[in-house]
Amino acid sequence: MAQTEFELIGKHFSHLGATRGDVRIGVGDDGAVLAPPASRELVVVTDTLVEGIHFPPRSPPPSIGHRAFAVNLSDIAAMGAEPAWALLALTLPDSDETWLEGFARAAGDLCRRHGVALVGGDTTRGPLSITVTLIGIVPIGTALERRGGRPGDAVFVTGSPGDAAAGLALEQNRLHVSDPMSAQILRDRFLFPTPRCEVGVALRGLASACIDVSDGLGGDLEKLCGASGCGAEIDAAALPVSEPLVAAVGREVAREYALTGGDDYELLFTVPLARLGAMTHAVALGLGPVTRIGTLMSGNGVRVSARGGVTQFSGSGFDHFAR
Ligand code: ADP
Ligand code: MG
Repeated sequence: MAQTEFELIGKHFSHLGATRGDVRIGVGDDGAVLAPPASRELVVVTDTLVEGIHFPPRSPPPSIGHRAFAVNLSDIAAMGAEPAWALLALTLPDSDETWLEGFARAAGDLCRRHGVALVGGDTTRGPLSITVTLIGIVPIGTALERRGGRPGDAVFVTGSPGDAAAGLALEQNRLHVSDPMSAQILRDRFLFPTPRCEVGVALRGLASACIDVSDGLGGDLEKLCGASGCGAEIDAAALPVSEPLVAAVGREVAREYALTGGDDYELLFTVPLARLGAMTHAVALGLGPVTRIGTLMSGNGVRVSARGGVTQFSGSGFDHFAR
């Protein structure tokens, strides 16, 4: 390596992200020492991104830095926690300075925006792979879970799912879009996803169940339903597909992307009817873009209603639906 591991860490990772008073010892010792607030619980998540598996080879370094932390922030958001501390295990093929600068700048920007301090990690040489561990804080007993949904609860999603999958298809030249503006917006939705941390915190005491959409809305709703011991019916026409996505692929295919595409990092959550008023209030107070897409039902599995017909969603897609 052009620089020693020690120099590399000192330059790029010793002060990444927010400065927090509860970090007694951060990067530089054998371990970090953190001072969590009293009467709080910690939520711990970790996710790995491997080049060629979770992002295309030679992706822009700022996108890789952003996504490595964004996917973990999204898990913290889905639990209703406030993100606080991060660890970064980085495996690099070499120590390319430009790459490291782009990676660390974007990661640092996102961490500062969410009040996260990088407190430690590990750096090794090998095929490019990034593992982030994130620790969040939540008042005791208030963390959101996948399992609290009940039949009758309303199903909501944040943002506009499907954009990121189209963005990835564009990045991989599997999709071609004539309008450059739409193409760029979709690409950015894959390269720089927005974790919904503020929404997650606002949903404490409001949502009965919550999951983040990483593998596709339909499949992740199946997981929420499985954990909650119920089924769901969603209305294809209610799926909040974005204008750029509709411009790129048409409304029908846009709905397929929204249901089956991955990498959205939106929140999918359920609200009991008795709390819908409070939910509307929270939206009015600036909760962000949330859309009701359906209802939890007794039974199991996810059904999609479209044009008067109802189709069972299956993890492999929903072939019947487009017709
Ligand atoms: P050790 O040999 O004790 O594991 P290292 O040389 O691996 O120590 O790391 C030295 C310090 O730098 C430790 O505090 C470690 O947490 C931190 N560190 C190493 N790599 C990273 C990284 N990629 N990001 C943040 N901190 C890191
Ligand atoms: Mg080490």
